[in-house]
Amino acid sequence: MTTWFNETLYKGFRQSHEVKKVLFEGRSKYQKVGVFESGRFGRILALDGVVQCTEGDEFVYHEMLTHLPILAHGKVESVLIIGGGDGGILEEVLKHKSIKRATMVEIDGEVIEVAKKYLPKICGKAFSDKRTNLIVGDGAAYVAETKNRYDLVIVDRPDPVGPATVLFSEGFYRNCHRVMKPGAILVAQNGVPHMQGPELTEAIKLFQKIWAESGSYLAVVPTYVCGFMSMTWASDRDITDVDPRKVFARFDAAKLPALRYYNPEIHFAAFALPNFVAGLIPAPKKTVAKKSPAQKKATKAPAKLKKKAAPKRKAAKKR
Ligand code: SAM
Repeated sequence: MTTWFNETLYKGFRQSHEVKKVLFEGRSKYQKVGVFESGRFGRILALDGVVQCTEGDEFVYHEMLTHLPILAHGKVESVLIIGGGDGGILEEVLKHKSIKRATMVEIDGEVIEVAKKYLPKICGKAFSDKRTNLIVGDGAAYVAETKNRYDLVIVDRPDPVGPATVLFSEGFYRNCHRVMKPGAILVAQNGVPHMQGPELTEAIKLFQKIWAESGSYLAVVPTYVCGFMSMTWASDRDITDVDPRKVFARFDAAKLPALRYYNPEIHFAAFALPNFVAGLIPAPKKTVAKKSPAQKKATKAPAKLKKKAAPKRKAAKKR
């Protein structure tokens, strides 16, 4: 008799995977942790019954949440990963020789141990790399306290449930901003727009209050069902406005091992949003351009002068 794993994240809809073999099933301090051999996507990590990553399609998500911001930035040396317990983001980041330090703050040590044991195809040797600084703890507390500063912050969070709820809060984003160096970039997992549209809108609304520039890019991760997966970004500069020749040159210079999803062409294509997704992104509030002292002086011109000027203009019109 075939056993099925049923993910019921969305009301009225579910995805099911054939369970070939249960490799691990347990409950940590924070959540239910499960790893099973599936019918079509290899080994799957599920937390509280929700697919987190699979051997079959993890490359899409992990490559787009790492190589795109790293090559958009151009000089990333220090990276902070919040969450990411399966080690897939850490493994992709460490493919860049320019990275000097990768700090990962994962709240659930059990997820890391399970990944090391059952998901080597996803985390590789990343956890034992000498550039890795692994912290088991709450990512929100870490960014509130650390004195370290980073070129890139990657928020590889699950959906906004349980211990991850705080990773969608304004306070957390403000502290992420606090630990970012000038020109640094933040990227975050932000759900499937077709099913989780408000999550994307809410995140961008908060980003616009904190950073000068923000937006979203897309990729299709088959087991994050129902279409595009949105990744959000924020920075004090517009990361979509990078000269493509620079990204191509950085990609060549990085001499990365063969990637299965990311390339410089998809880098730029990922920012092209279909209308229904673009419609979820609130228009940035008109930032009132700061007036120069000269401009301030001009606008202070005494009222009477203004009055005098006004009638003449009217007269001209009448003619
Ligand atoms: N890519 C997956 C997705 O899109 O759903 C997420 C992968 S990763 C496994 C998510 C990790 O975030 C989990 O291991 C979870 O334990 C961790 N996490 C949840 N809340 C956290 C917090 N407050 N601080 C640090 N890590 C947290």
